[in-house]
Amino acid sequence: MEITEKTNVLIEMLHSTDVEIRLDAVSDLIKRTSLCGIPSVMETLVEALDIPNPTGIRQKPESVMLKNSIRLLFEKIGLVAVPALIRGLNHESKWVRYNAAESLIAIGLPAIPALEYSNSKLAKLIISKINSPEWKDFGADYSHTGNYALLETVSHVTHIDSSFTILEQNMIKAGLVYDESKLNKERISVCWVSPNYWSQGFFYGNVRFTFDWKKLIADKKYYWIEAIERYSPPACRILITIQDYSSKFPEYNPKGGDGPWWYDSENDKHYWTNKYTVEFMIESNLDIKEVTKIDFVKHHPNMCSFNLDKCPDSELDDKGASGLFLAKLIAKKNSDSMIQTVKNQVMLPSNRIDSDKFTSPLGIAWEQLLRGLHRFGIDNYSGNITFENEKSLPLARAILNLYAQSNWEEFLILSSLFKSEEDLMESCIKLIETTFSLDENLSDILPVKLNRTF
Ligand SMILES: [Zn+2]
Repeated sequence: MEITEKTNVLIEMLHSTDVEIRLDAVSDLIKRTSLCGIPSVMETLVEALDIPNPTGIRQKPESVMLKNSIRLLFEKIGLVAVPALIRGLNHESKWVRYNAAESLIAIGLPAIPALEYSNSKLAKLIISKINSPEWKDFGADYSHTGNYALLETVSHVTHIDSSFTILEQNMIKAGLVYDESKLNKERISVCWVSPNYWSQGFFYGNVRFTFDWKKLIADKKYYWIEAIERYSPPACRILITIQDYSSKFPEYNPKGGDGPWWYDSENDKHYWTNKYTVEFMIESNLDIKEVTKIDFVKHHPNMCSFNLDKCPDSELDDKGASGLFLAKLIAKKNSDSMIQTVKNQVMLPSNRIDSDKFTSPLGIAWEQLLRGLHRFGIDNYSGNITFENEKSLPLARAILNLYAQSNWEEFLILSSLFKSEEDLMESCIKLIETTFSLDENLSDILPVKLNRTF
């Protein structure tokens, strides 16, 4: 590996007697990730963090810089940084001791064996802090109502396009964790579920897959992963798995009643602290058969887990999302199993099959789609294709595709081939009938015009 001239200068600076120069060099060198494979450089970096003489150091900036440097260093070279931090615990300067202690607490369990060799009182305090469960900071007073709620279901919320992938695959596939989580360096794939309801809107999208909590956690182990305090409110994360990770993560005991999730075993009821966000990471794929309900929610207007500027769904509320979902569904050819799931779980749930289809989720979605088609295609119908025409269904399908892609230019070109708006709408209703293999005539139930009273 080539070490550039600038890097050589920085490595030289690590030996400076001036602490500020050393810390500057540490910060700069840590940013050069390619250096992390060179043991001699790493050792020098660790040595440079030992501060023999604090005289003349302005406290604050260096203190922050030291902390950041140590964190970065630990992320890159792991436990090699621990001896330097433990030496820092005996430092005559308080701020060095404080930062070294904070960094060791952040390192957590892996730092304990080395800490046990240290005789300092501070080391013992740090061990007890590491061993004291972090979740205690995120509990609730379960003897008073108000800041906790029953935990009976949890949901996975996603964007419309990825909901189609889930429905086609018949499962929510577990994925590696990429955010700032402790799990982002582990080969642990998880599905995210939460009991949270975001009244302002969900930044994960519009389609909600709901699961029965008790079934989901049966015969599993639970591990506390972290609380991400950068989020408001902080996000508490608990891993649910069949694997044994007791050497890696603290086991979470929901019966303890001292964290964000409490299992009242006497009454067989689960509760969660709704003053925090609680995220459960399930280490397995989630089979669509385990889903108890699929419905639609509002997208957050200003936040998106995908990319707000590019998100096609960010302005959709729950009803709007159902209209777009329906358009996408009938515009393409889907597998039979997917259609069955959508029919039974989303659009015409079996418990409502006998009720008026117009008040069913299908009716609501159709009303939204009708409004959308009407809004964008108004007064545009000048062709001669009627509903009876054999080309009407393929044409309607193509128009729905363009609608789903917000391709308004081509949408207008193709929809102008219909003789009237009613001809297009009736063709779309026919497509719904065919998609769901319904025997009855939906056009008796679903309106083709907006001003029809229902
Ligand atoms: Zn989005």
